[in-house]
Amino acid sequence: MADGNVGLAVLGFPIGHSLSPQLHNAALEELTSRDPDYKNWNYGKVELAASDLGKALPLFWECGYKGLNLTIPHKVEVLPFLSSIDEDADIMGAVNTLVWKEDGWHGCNTDGYGLEAGLKESLSVSLENAKVLIVGAGGAARAAAAQCLRSKCEKLWITNRSPGRLQEVVEVLGQAFGRDRIQSFPLNELPDEVLEVKELIVVNATALGLKPEDPCPIELGKFRSDCRVYDMIYNPPLTQLLTRASHFQMSHANGLSMLVHQAARALELWTDQRISVSAMYRGVKS
Ligand code: NAP
Repeated sequence: MADGNVGLAVLGFPIGHSLSPQLHNAALEELTSRDPDYKNWNYGKVELAASDLGKALPLFWECGYKGLNLTIPHKVEVLPFLSSIDEDADIMGAVNTLVWKEDGWHGCNTDGYGLEAGLKESLSVSLENAKVLIVGAGGAARAAAAQCLRSKCEKLWITNRSPGRLQEVVEVLGQAFGRDRIQSFPLNELPDEVLEVKELIVVNATALGLKPEDPCPIELGKFRSDCRVYDMIYNPPLTQLLTRASHFQMSHANGLSMLVHQAARALELWTDQRISVSAMYRGVKS
C-alpha cells in the first residue's frame, strides 16, 4: 500500500462473488465529497485460505490496513487471532468486522445489526415484541438470534437441519439471555403454535436458496398469510422461499438490505462517520 493510503478489505475463500468493494467504495466516494481526508481510503477483496489467516492478519496492519471484513470460512476461525472481541460478537461466536486497535485486531459482528435494520427498511418490522422464527443455526443464524433476543423480541423459535448444531446455539443463547423466550424444534416437526402466530417474522439463515435448484428451507403453505418472510440470501434475488411467499401474498424481502446495513455499520466503526446507505445501494446497482 502506497504511503498515506488506508486500506480496507474483505477476506474470504472464495471471494470473487463479493459485492463488498462496490458497496464500500461507493460510500467512501460519497464520504470523500464531504471530507477530502478520505480520498486515499480504498476497499478491496482478498482471497485467503483459512490456513493462512493467522499469519496474514498482522501483515495487513503492517501494510496499512485499518479495517477488515471476514466472510466464509473466516468468521469463526478468526477468534484465536484477536486481541479483543465485542460482547455481542462473543455471544454470536462469530466475527465479521475487524478494527485495528493499539494491541491488535478487535473483533465485532455487524450482521445482527444489519438484519435488524434490513427488516425495518424492507418489511417495516421492528424486533421489539416481535415473534420470530429463524431457520438455520450457522454463524448468520446465531447473529440473527442474538440480535432478536437483545432487541427484546417476545418469542424466538429456531430450527435447523443438524440437531447437534441447533442444540449448541440454543445453549449459548440460553446462557446469555435465559431460556424462557427461546424454543427450538426439529426442522420437520413444526409446532402447531407457530402456525397460529399473528405477524410472525420468518427468517431464512440457511444456505438453501443459493443455488437456483435448491428447495425451500421451510414450507410456508401452513403459515398465516400475515407472516413476513426475510431471506438472508440476496443472490439470486428471488429464491424458492420468496417465490412461495409471493404466491401466498406474504410480505417478503431478500437479504440485500441486511448486506448493505451490516456494511454501513462496519464502515462507521472504521471511520467514526455517518455512512450513507443510499450511496451503497447505488454502488451495488451500478
Ligand atoms: P454457515 O455458518 O455455513 O451455516 C449454514 C446454514 O445453512 C446451517 O444452518 C446449515 O445447516 C444450513 N444448510 C446448509 N445446507 C443445507 C441444506 N442442504 N439443507 C438444510 N440446511 C442447510 O453459513 P452462514 O454464514 O450462517 O450463512 C448462512 C446464509 O446466510 C448464507 O446463505 C449466506 O449467504 C447468508 N448470509 C447473508 C448475509 C447478508 O448480509 N445478507 C450475511 C451473512 C450470511 P446444518 O447446520 O445442518 O449444516
